[in-house]
Amino acid sequence: MNKQVCAIGIIVVLVVAVGVLFILGMDLPEGEPSFDNEGRYDSTILNNMGVIYSNQSHIEHWNNGYSESDACPWGAAHNGLDYMFSNNSPVIAAAPGLVIGIEIDYLPNSTVYKVGVHIQFNESVWLEYGFEGDANETMRAQQVAMLDVEVGDWVAKGDQIARFLRPSVYDHVHFGVYLNDEAICPRLVMGEDDYNEIMILVHSFDATWELCYP
Ligand SMILES: [Zn+2]
Repeated sequence: MNKQVCAIGIIVVLVVAVGVLFILGMDLPEGEPSFDNEGRYDSTILNNMGVIYSNQSHIEHWNNGYSESDACPWGAAHNGLDYMFSNNSPVIAAAPGLVIGIEIDYLPNSTVYKVGVHIQFNESVWLEYGFEGDANETMRAQQVAMLDVEVGDWVAKGDQIARFLRPSVYDHVHFGVYLNDEAICPRLVMGEDDYNEIMILVHSFDATWELCYP
């Protein structure tokens, strides 16, 4: 008798548990994984992203910013900012977040490799730090070895993500800001001081350039 009661009890608990899981599952919107930073930072503040260098002297040149068409000084659409770091310079986080992926590949039909560090800020915004170098797998592995983060790490704004490997003078970090997986002008989420900071850098190379062009 006691065994039967016990068995019925277990079945009732199981049925309730499955029901609760089913209802919780239904509450999650399709295709949108929930993102919880467990109180590490305020993920509703969308105007506090910074630059990814710690010192302007680490940037060798500014060739192109963000553009949505070819109507810009560099003459082509470009969905991010290219920071042309000097060799072995520190690359720092523009915003806090969780490292959700490290993409190791080559650009399509190209000898330019990409080590793309993807850091999620909140449910709808993630950042890409794409270490792009024109070289071989050995150099790419060397750039990977110079990363300071791995998937699953949390970073704070200003934390060092990596040191930059510069196999050739064209190499850079392609920095992209994605809102609902669409690239946006990084200015839209930057703090005022940080925007002023990057414009001093940009204007030190080209006095009339904007950060972003439509
Ligand atoms: Zn780029």
